[in-house]
Amino acid sequence: MKETSVFSGGVRLEPNKVATQLPTPQLPPQPLYAVPLNTRGGQFAEPRVQVGDAVLGGQLIAGARSKVGAHSPVSGLVKSVQTENNKACIVIEADGLQQKIPARPPVHPASVSIDDLREAGLTGMGGAGFPTADKLQAAGLNKPKMLLINAVECEPLISCDAQLIAEDAKTILFGADWLRQFSGAYHCQIVLEDHSVDSHKILTTALSDSDFDAISISTVPTRYPAGSERQLVHAITGTALLPGERPLDKGVLVQNIGTVHALGHWAQDGTPLTKRLVTVAGNACPTPQTLWCPIGTPVAALVEYVGATEKNVDLFQGGPVMGQPLSDATAAVSKHMQCLRIEIEAKKPEAIACIRCGDCAEACPEHLLPQQLHWQLQGDNLPGAQAERLPDCILCGCCDLVCPSLIPLSKQFAAGKSALRLRQHTELRAAKAKTRFDARELRLEEKERERQERMKKRKAGTAKTDKQKAVAEAMARARAKRAEKAGTSKGDKDE
Ligand code: SF4
Ligand code: SF4
Repeated sequence: MKETSVFSGGVRLEPNKVATQLPTPQLPPQPLYAVPLNTRGGQFAEPRVQVGDAVLGGQLIAGARSKVGAHSPVSGLVKSVQTENNKACIVIEADGLQQKIPARPPVHPASVSIDDLREAGLTGMGGAGFPTADKLQAAGLNKPKMLLINAVECEPLISCDAQLIAEDAKTILFGADWLRQFSGAYHCQIVLEDHSVDSHKILTTALSDSDFDAISISTVPTRYPAGSERQLVHAITGTALLPGERPLDKGVLVQNIGTVHALGHWAQDGTPLTKRLVTVAGNACPTPQTLWCPIGTPVAALVEYVGATEKNVDLFQGGPVMGQPLSDATAAVSKHMQCLRIEIEAKKPEAIACIRCGDCAEACPEHLLPQQLHWQLQGDNLPGAQAERLPDCILCGCCDLVCPSLIPLSKQFAAGKSALRLRQHTELRAAKAKTRFDARELRLEEKERERQERMKKRKAGTAKTDKQKAVAEAMARARAKRAEKAGTSKGDKDE
């Protein structure tokens, strides 16, 4: 087992993982599925079906080669197509027949394009949800040397990766080697946390039974946020990424293990991404477990399945550190939902003023000064927060975990980052508008100059014509005079 170095900062958290169980539980079929059309990164998949259309499980229903595809998880009828920004989805009424698109033979990496992967509907399944094809397109330009498969589920409770490894290590290895060949990387490392002993054993056995010589397995010490891309690359390569640097800049392509499994499945038989593992846990969940859920399953179905009957609960998407409250009770399982937490409503403890203890700075894995960011944002000083490297904050929440004043720092930083992005967007738009305005002014000036030029020429032209006219008239008069003279002299002769 290869041990790696650790990144700086971070917090030691008890894993408290939800136990894996085989066979993996499957959520019972639901009458309706609301397949989301929005992907992280602001992409919207254009619907390709209409209300009343019959669809098969795995059929492409939105997006395609330019946008991440969305597929029906079941066979049935399209009940509604909603395109409003926040709730964009296609609702499928299941017919209970579970009919699927036909399987196709395996495809070789050399015969597959980025657009094929986009159509397969693959996105990052570790919580970020970034379109996989976009990342691989960037990788194509950067020519990665190493492929890191991220199985470091560093947030407590979540056990999607462990469940996946226990259930289907073969497809993970197939997907990993397929992706290594596709990206052109020489080597592939699957990385786990050192407490994941069972997962390590299963993967090692599966690897020794295979002929994937370019794959190895490593572990990183259990320390949050080891699963964050930047910290993972630091732990594996021993070099920290500079602010603004991406793993690809160091020749490393990072992919989540769930994404690699979904890719392996698609490469083997054409099955698109229509389901994912979700860990359902929390103090109001009587039977915490990780189960297969079709994309678009109503969250309420998961709550019911685990037997959570408590009335006053809060629902969260994600783990206990980075999870976000689910404000919409009608929400559905998305491609990036790793965890659903069902927690008994609790009154949040009051935050008190910062005592400048500096614990947050010590815990920050990005070497930021969270207390300084806090002061700048409290004073609505966005440029000051930017100077304190607000954009480099990865919102890991380590500062929240150690703050004795219980200040919700990462929440404040998330809001600050959004405000900064909005401001930059507005400034960019204003700059573009100014460029357009200046260009228009220049065009108008040019037009005016041309008009003046034309008038000058026309004037000059008219003056010339008058002169010519005067010359012609003088010549005519001279001719008339000559003719008159000639006539007179002829008359003299006749007389
Ligand atoms: S940990 Fe909290 S109290 Fe201590 S310096 Fe940071 S923000 Fe202030
Ligand atoms: S949330 Fe941001 S500031 Fe706080 S520890 Fe993480 S990276 Fe540092």
